Amino acid sequence: MRDFERLRNLMVETQLIPRGIKDKRLLDVMRKVPRHLFIPETSWDDAYEDMALPIGENQTISQPYMVAIMTELLELKGDERVLEIGTGSGYQAAILGELAGEVYTIERIEALAHKAKNRLGEMGYTNIYVVIGDGSKGLPEKSPFDRIIITAATPEIPECLKSQLAEGGIIVAPVGQRFSQILIKAKKIKGTFKQEYHTPCIFVPLIGEYGWKE
Ligand code: SAH
Repeated sequence: MRDFERLRNLMVETQLIPRGIKDKRLLDVMRKVPRHLFIPETSWDDAYEDMALPIGENQTISQPYMVAIMTELLELKGDERVLEIGTGSGYQAAILGELAGEVYTIERIEALAHKAKNRLGEMGYTNIYVVIGDGSKGLPEKSPFDRIIITAATPEIPECLKSQLAEGGIIVAPVGQRFSQILIKAKKIKGTFKQEYHTPCIFVPLIGEYGWKE
């Protein structure tokens, strides 16, 4: 039996802290949430390595550092309502569920959505809602959200998502070309957006009405 707890601590000490992740609550949650349970058992040897991994359907679970920096940029305090676009494995949603009040997460591929929903349910999360659909359109009926995180590459942040964000809210998204993006944090201040540019990154594409075509 592998010592996953030790590997998780090692992941935090060698991949996250040296790269500048500081949020104490986030680091504690990254030490706790079992990333291996979100990937196929055949990849468990690599579960806490410094990389993205395949989760089926041509999709990936993000590199731990990418999950950490995106979450840190969201500045979660504990009671926020969060929207995630791109559930994938559900790992990022679990991290958000630990740190925020309520999480809505949208996935376009039904098989992934079902797996993520079951997995999160079995783990005991009751504040995470998995929705099947085109997340590029957001979830207007549950808006406004305090935070929005897009975990798929997008040519730009869709206007409809901007309008579903509450005043003072934050959106984090990988924005750019199909095979290379930059992580953007955008804060809504008096209806306008103040943008910061962070690390370069590579995500699978957002496919949908306000993303790329299939
Ligand atoms: N956050 C995930 C990784 C995301 S991979 C995790 O923690 O594992 C990106 C995911 O976005 C893929 O599962 C892909 O199917 C999904 N996706 C792409 N376009 C989408 C859209 N328009 N709406 C919802 N999900 C989308």
